[in-house]
Amino acid sequence: MKEKRADVLRRIREAEEGASGLNAFLALAEGDGNDIDGKGPLAGVPVAVKDNLVTSDLPTTCGSRLLEGYVSPFDATVVRRLREAGAVIVGKTNLDEFGMGSSTENSAYGPTLNPHDRSRVAGGSSGGSAAAVAAGYVDMALGSDTGGSVRQPAALCGVVGLKPTYGRVSRYGLVAFASSLDQVGTFGRTVVDAARLFEVVAGYDPRDATCVDTPTPGVAAAAGRGVEGLVVGVPEEFFPDSLDGRMRDRVDAALAVLTAGGAEIRSVSLPSSDLAIPCYYVIAPAEASSNLSRFDGVRYGRRIEADDMDGMVRATRGEGFGPEVKRRIMLGTYALSAGYYDQYYGAAQRARRQIRADLVRVFDSGVDVLFTPTTPGPAFPLGDRVADPLKMYLSDVFTVTANLAGVPAMSVPIGDIEGLPVGGQVMARWWDEETMIRVASALETGR
Ligand code: GLN
Repeated sequence: MKEKRADVLRRIREAEEGASGLNAFLALAEGDGNDIDGKGPLAGVPVAVKDNLVTSDLPTTCGSRLLEGYVSPFDATVVRRLREAGAVIVGKTNLDEFGMGSSTENSAYGPTLNPHDRSRVAGGSSGGSAAAVAAGYVDMALGSDTGGSVRQPAALCGVVGLKPTYGRVSRYGLVAFASSLDQVGTFGRTVVDAARLFEVVAGYDPRDATCVDTPTPGVAAAAGRGVEGLVVGVPEEFFPDSLDGRMRDRVDAALAVLTAGGAEIRSVSLPSSDLAIPCYYVIAPAEASSNLSRFDGVRYGRRIEADDMDGMVRATRGEGFGPEVKRRIMLGTYALSAGYYDQYYGAAQRARRQIRADLVRVFDSGVDVLFTPTTPGPAFPLGDRVADPLKMYLSDVFTVTANLAGVPAMSVPIGDIEGLPVGGQVMARWWDEETMIRVASALETGR
């Protein structure tokens, strides 16, 4: 039987306010007892929404002090589509400030705890959404993925995370981090749930100039169709000698499932893979430094008053942004500055083209999907990487490639390491979410 809206909200509120709360939510909807008996593919289904997607009825903070209390005058397109599909938006989930991080420890409102081990991170930046699904608060949630922010927390929390092809889902109302990489993604406890939510939010939107007018296939139906005849590429660069042997074992077990299902496993090479992290950490901060210039104390969120305009902007940004956001703005501004533009930003753009060309070549050779670990290992302890940004950045070593190239990618649970879940990543051709879901579903059901 379907749970009533008020009961869902009470259940989440009690769990989050109790001693075992995870800090997964930054805002919860009010339970008014009214059930929405709407029709639509998600009628009455509770869904959590990452707090960088704007909502007209709940605040949107992006995990930042700067936007504390900010309420948008409109709904993001994906939020509007959720409402039209009959979904119940239960609240806004915690994240690293403006999506910058891999653990939610960069949230101004404290980290989300991993439901499998509360001394460990939930991953990030969409850690609140991943934890909300893993804890059973909701079956589905929305996140955003710029360099892995849906797939990495999904892997660390033991749920399914799906990043669509760039241009598949509208970014209108997603607070921009790095516009050429950002894509709204979905979480589900199952592959079908993640796929159903994807179907609801995907599709053309004239309000986002990068959103492509192409039909969205009924991908959820692809689950259970089997993998007979598919070619699964395994890129050798994603299995360095330094990789935890247990991670390699989980991936091998997953590949054995695909082989048993009739897929062909083929070793392939993506030689530019070692450029992915340096390339991402130039392009993402460069775009962020430009996107975040809008937060000037004039139009959005908090303002710290000062004697003059310049002082007001300095005070607002100085107090409003946390240390990681400032680091990214400085890195990005430097990379874009006149004397260094070609050396950094230009070089990163060239690397990005090489990374994309590697994928074109592999997919053109007849490989249908690529399979890799989602992360180098399971959830790390809270506090472990905060003092070492480079170590934190390496959490994304396997996920940034898909964003730089724009291909769809998803993470599915492939077992655990000492009780902590780990994920496998399936990447597919541009626009071929359908084949990706076939493979993910085979891994989920074991055949
Ligand atoms: N962890 C990556 C970063 O810090 C990716 C974040 C994201 O996808 N939003 O940039």
